[in-house]
Formats: sequence, C-alpha cells, structure tokens
Amino acid sequence: MNFNEWIVKKILGKKGDSKKYAGYLEGWVSIIGNLILFLFKYFSGLYLGSISLIADAFHSLSDVLTSVVVILGFKLGSKPADKEHPYGHGRIEQIATLIIAFLLLIVAYDLALSSFNRLLKPQKVEFDLLIFILLIISFLFKEWMARFSIYLGKRFDASPLIADAWHHRSDAIATLLVAIGLVGSKLGFYRLDGILGVFVSLLIAWVGVDLIKSATNFLIGEAPSDELVKKIDDIVINTPGVLNYHDLSVHDYQNEKYITLHIEVDNNLTVKEAHDLALRVQDEIKAKIENSQVTVHVDPRGERED
Ligand SMILES: [Zn+2]
Ligand SMILES: [Zn+2]
Ligand SMILES: [Zn+2]
Repeated sequence: MNFNEWIVKKILGKKGDSKKYAGYLEGWVSIIGNLILFLFKYFSGLYLGSISLIADAFHSLSDVLTSVVVILGFKLGSKPADKEHPYGHGRIEQIATLIIAFLLLIVAYDLALSSFNRLLKPQKVEFDLLIFILLIISFLFKEWMARFSIYLGKRFDASPLIADAWHHRSDAIATLLVAIGLVGSKLGFYRLDGILGVFVSLLIAWVGVDLIKSATNFLIGEAPSDELVKKIDDIVINTPGVLNYHDLSVHDYQNEKYITLHIEVDNNLTVKEAHDLALRVQDEIKAKIENSQVTVHVDPRGERED
C-alpha cells in the first residue's frame, strides 16, 4: 500500500468508496496544504526579504479558490434527483472541471507573461541557499499534493480532481522555476527561468484546453465508449432467445447511465415470453453495469421497423 492509499484509508475509512467524500478530501487537503504553504512562504519571504518568495506565497493562497470549486462541485453534484432535475445533479462535476480548467488557462497566461518579461528584461538575483532550499521544499510539497489529487481523481474517475491536480502542479513548477532562476542567475544564465517558463506555460495551457474539451464533450453528450459497448454487447448477445439487437443508446448523467436498446426475438413468442426476455436483458445489464437504468424495446425478427 502506498502513502496516498494509506491516507485515503485512514481518513475516509468506511466512506472510502464514495466519490463525494474523495472530492471533499482532495478539496480540504488542498485548502489546508495551500494555507500552510502560504504562511510558510510568506513569513520566510518577509524574514529573508525575498520578493519572489512573497509573490509565490500569494500564488499558493489564490489556489485555495480552485479547491473551493472542487468541494462545491461534489457537494452540489451529489444531491439526489429532485422534481426539476429527475436525472440527478451529477453533471455539475463537469461544470466544476470547466471552471477549474479556465482558471488553469489564466495561470498559463500569467506564467507566459511573466516569463516573457524575464526573457526581455533578465534580472540578476542574489543567490541565497536558504531561499533556494525553502523553494525546493515548497515545490516537493506541492508536487505531492498534485500526485495525491491525481491518485484520487483516477481512482474515483473524477475529472475535477485531475483538473485541480494540474493546478497544484502548475504552482509546483512555478516555484521550481523561481529556484532555477536563482541558480541560473548565479551561474550567469539570466534567461534560463524565462525560457523554461514559456515552455511550461504552453504545457499548462494544453492541459487546460484538453480538460475543457473532455468536459464539454461529456456535457454535449458523446457516443458510449468502446469498452461500454463491448460490455453491453456481451450481455445482450449471450442472453438465450435474443437473436440480435440494435439502436443502442447511452445517456450518461455522471452518477447514472440511461441505456436503451432494441432486441430482436422470434416472431412466434407470446407477448409474455417476449416481455420476460426484455426484463432478463434489463436485469443483466443493471447487475453488471453500475448505476444503470435500462429500457429494452422488443422487435419481432424480420418485421418492418419504424
Ligand atoms: Zn435540482
Ligand atoms: Zn428496433
Ligand atoms: Zn414491462
């Protein structure tokens, strides 16, 4: 068991299988982590008179915002279905991802701008070993936060956590760039951090666009994954009495999938037999595909289709 897994077990305990609580955990770990980083960087920056540390401190503080979006997203997204929203509120998760991804684009823009400025007007900064070490500690801590979020995001298939993870990572890299800038300046490479910063900002922007694309596709409604189609195909084809099937459609509401399909059966079945067959297919799919609502329509083989 690795460290991240251990934390999840320790803190979530029995709630450990719920995506909602995984979201809360990531959100709170991020908020507390960023506040610790803020205080750590701010006061050591004040003490050492380092403007770069103080500026970096406020970057960490602003990251608290994205984690609040994560927590709100999971809180609202896990509300049960109600009269206005009979399909539940799960898709709010994707809206949270969109918001965080747009904030990520702002971070990328910001980094690109400051990197260009440093490229155009390179500044000689005094190398200070203590500041360098503090920056590296902050970098490592923030990179761990990113990895923890990615771990949770992958385990619970939660895109807002992946988006937030990239926020953490962008902050970690920005901190690392400040450290590299210190070393570069000492060695006489005054443009090193600026050059790296431009590349990193492109990477962050690319991740942001990718997250926006996948969340948007989900909200527009996309074709079911090959994996899901294969799973349904296996179930339907292997139900005795089903000759074939067509018109499979899946509507994914994040916390629930609505699946409909037509099965083709022998013309001579009684209505009851055909209905029983449809029920069997429904039950099989529901049993094997988590959180699915299934409707099966029956077509007699060889009859006209409308
Ligand atoms: Zn509602
Ligand atoms: Zn049909
Ligand atoms: Zn029925």
